[in-house]
Amino acid sequence: MQPKPELGQLDVDAQDLVLVDGLLAGNRRDLAKAITLVESTRPEHRVRAQKLLDALLPHTGRSMRIGISGVPGVGKSTFIEALGMHLIEAGHRVAVLAVDPSSTVHGGSILGDKTRMELLSQRSEAFIRPSPSSGSLGGVAEHTREALLLCEAAGYDIIIVETVGVGQSETAVAGMTDCFVLLQLPNAGDDLQAIKKGIMELADLVVFNKADIDPKAAQLAAAQMRSALAMLHPASANWQPPVLTLSAIRKDGLVEFWQVVEKFKSTLIASGEFAAKRRHQALAWMWQQIDSDLRNRFREHPAVKSALAELSVSVEAGTTTPTVAAQRLLALVGRHF
Ligand code: GDP
Repeated sequence: MQPKPELGQLDVDAQDLVLVDGLLAGNRRDLAKAITLVESTRPEHRVRAQKLLDALLPHTGRSMRIGISGVPGVGKSTFIEALGMHLIEAGHRVAVLAVDPSSTVHGGSILGDKTRMELLSQRSEAFIRPSPSSGSLGGVAEHTREALLLCEAAGYDIIIVETVGVGQSETAVAGMTDCFVLLQLPNAGDDLQAIKKGIMELADLVVFNKADIDPKAAQLAAAQMRSALAMLHPASANWQPPVLTLSAIRKDGLVEFWQVVEKFKSTLIASGEFAAKRRHQALAWMWQQIDSDLRNRFREHPAVKSALAELSVSVEAGTTTPTVAAQRLLALVGRHF
């Protein structure tokens, strides 16, 4: 058996040197290739990808990372396209990534299938990448996190990570971005209850889109959201999440939206929370990796493999308690594995 290659401070493979140069020069094709490499699950690709990321790490971290979430149809692609064009006009380079939880279930996609953001995708200052299309949600999120770093190394100074309104994927996206935006529909506030408290707590900013349809209803919904948010404990003592209304299709409110994002950034930088959040996110990511790797190794352990089925049956039948079964399985692998 081949010894397992070690990850860590290793040199980039010779075959990837050209990729590194192209990526650092902002070449979109090299960026796309590098992302394909980090999305691969083949072990030799994983090793190459980690070396690549290691080499590029000093060139990362300099973007503003924005998460955007909302149910299908709320106007995410319309909004991101309009915002992206606005930001490009202001001299920025914008990358758009996605975490699509539906892709993990059936390989289909809520976010990626239709031709989206046609104008933006034609601009050389923009890079749009659909969600990785297979694996667990954790795997998809991990690959998106890595793609985000690659986009930063390629010189994109604004990275938008989009997802749909399903709790877990929103938590994952909030965990990799600086500012998490919740996009809402102004249904006169009567579906406020449908927004889970946990999701509202993630929001740094709430936006009611489609305000052009019924501006009064949008204002009412925004007011109700403001009072709902006021009852929550804000994540930062220095930032009460603002609630805005806008119309993505008419490009109304985009300038104000971006001003709020910039104010958010400067407020959190001044209080030290911006850097602290990134530090926490990096450590949380490390622990997620450890958790999932340990779990995989545990499941692959020969002794566990042979005992797992029988013990699972007795836990289901109620003849062994889950705690005893867990202890027996853990004892099988010993303390060092
Ligand atoms: P997504 O599924 O969240 O990406 O939503 P889309 O951006 O595809 O938008 C869904 C539909 O809503 C499309 O028909 C858009 O044209 C429309 N839409 C998006 N933004 C607005 C808006 O501000 N006002 C109105 N009236 N329609 C909008």
